[in-house]
Amino acid sequence: MAKLIDGKCISADIKEELKLKVAELKKQGITGALAVIQVGDDPASSVYVRNKKRACEYIGIDSLSYELPKETTQEELLELIERLNQDGQVKGILVQLPVPAHIDENTVIKAISPKKDVDGFHPQSVGALTIGQKGFVSCTPAGIIQLLKRSEIEIEGKSCVIVGRSNIVGKPMALLMLRENATVTITHSKTKNLKEVCKRADILIVAIGKKEFIDASYVKEGAVVIDVGIHRDENNKLSGDVKFDEVEPLCTAITPVPGGVGPMTIAMLMNNCVQAMTD
Ligand code: NDP
Repeated sequence: MAKLIDGKCISADIKEELKLKVAELKKQGITGALAVIQVGDDPASSVYVRNKKRACEYIGIDSLSYELPKETTQEELLELIERLNQDGQVKGILVQLPVPAHIDENTVIKAISPKKDVDGFHPQSVGALTIGQKGFVSCTPAGIIQLLKRSEIEIEGKSCVIVGRSNIVGKPMALLMLRENATVTITHSKTKNLKEVCKRADILIVAIGKKEFIDASYVKEGAVVIDVGIHRDENNKLSGDVKFDEVEPLCTAITPVPGGVGPMTIAMLMNNCVQAMTD
């Protein structure tokens, strides 16, 4: 039976550590706030924003909430971001994505000061990660590294296959695994013989956004499988990109959905906020 990698428990540990760190910083007079901007009222985004604000409250940092109507122009949004860039008490700025179609996501991301880019999406943050310099790292992949390390799964020298090459998961994940000295393969929708490539993985990280796409035929016996996917069915039941019941018996360790990668994203966002306070 595979070891279940418990993201709920690990993320709770990280938040607890951050809470202590924030209290320590407060004693030294170091405080700061996370500004959370939401444009429009997409229900899924509202849930994410609420959870982020709750996490701030839990670890003891202030959150400033900007709920803007969906008609907000790009110029208005950029003006707000610039004001927050200049505000010394605001240490992190987060614009909940996606933004409405009339606003260009890349322009918004670039407008956030790299010093306050707690999502790690700014080209400067991505560049720093690429050349191994200090900077904010995208939260979901950073969370997966924590899951592996805190579950005592060795990364160095291992063959790691990543399915998916998005800017927020697949690509930064590959760079982080490379930083940890894995031998990394990135696959995508044009990859030939995906099954064969996946079967070579000691660590298989799946972020394709297709419900239960990866079945047992993609997985080598003894592999570690990390499932990033999140899918909610009509009964509100969550599942991932991996057919858990079929794949689990083959693995040495696997993340469940829910309770695997999901809870780590917010914990790592909080980690980035604390980093922003101390930089
Ligand atoms: P994207 O849709 O941005 O990227 C999907 C990637 O999968 C693309 O690179 C695409 O390839 C690749 N892909 C699609 N179909 C195939 C296929 N048949 N074979 C091989 N590769 C394929 O998704 P995200 O990275 O944003 O998210 C992936 C999943 O992770 C989603 O379910 C999302 O909800 C979840 N997620 C979960 C988070 C969490 O906190 N747990 C955070 C972020 C995402 P190509 O580039 O060629 O199109």
